[in-house]
Amino acid sequence: MEEYLKAIKEKVCTICVDSDESGQCKMTDEEFCAVELNIDKIVAAVNSVDSDRTEDYIEALHDYVCVSCKNETDAGNCNLRNDVNCGLDRYFPHIVEVIRAVQLR
Ligand code: SF4
Ligand code: SF4
Repeated sequence: MEEYLKAIKEKVCTICVDSDESGQCKMTDEEFCAVELNIDKIVAAVNSVDSDRTEDYIEALHDYVCVSCKNETDAGNCNLRNDVNCGLDRYFPHIVEVIRAVQLR
């Protein structure tokens, strides 16, 4: 999991709107980024999909991560997702590419 996180920090955090110029995350202790917290579930979600369709990966992300995330309501809504404020959701297609690239090394 360390290798995945390292690659995501290099390739995704550096372009994330919540990072500084050097790619360091600016989230405070009160906030959280679902990426680091859920890296094992994210990798499992990606590995569960055998498809080129982005929708299939997004559905897997929801099933593996969002359902147990404190920000999702029982009705399946998430204010962070609605406001494009979840880094994991916002960059998920890019995160999938990074995970696949690590697996191909
Ligand atoms: S919010 Fe998440 S994706 Fe964005 S810089 Fe922080 S750890 Fe990386
Ligand atoms: S989109 Fe919402 S429910 Fe899903 S991981 Fe992000 S904050 Fe959690």
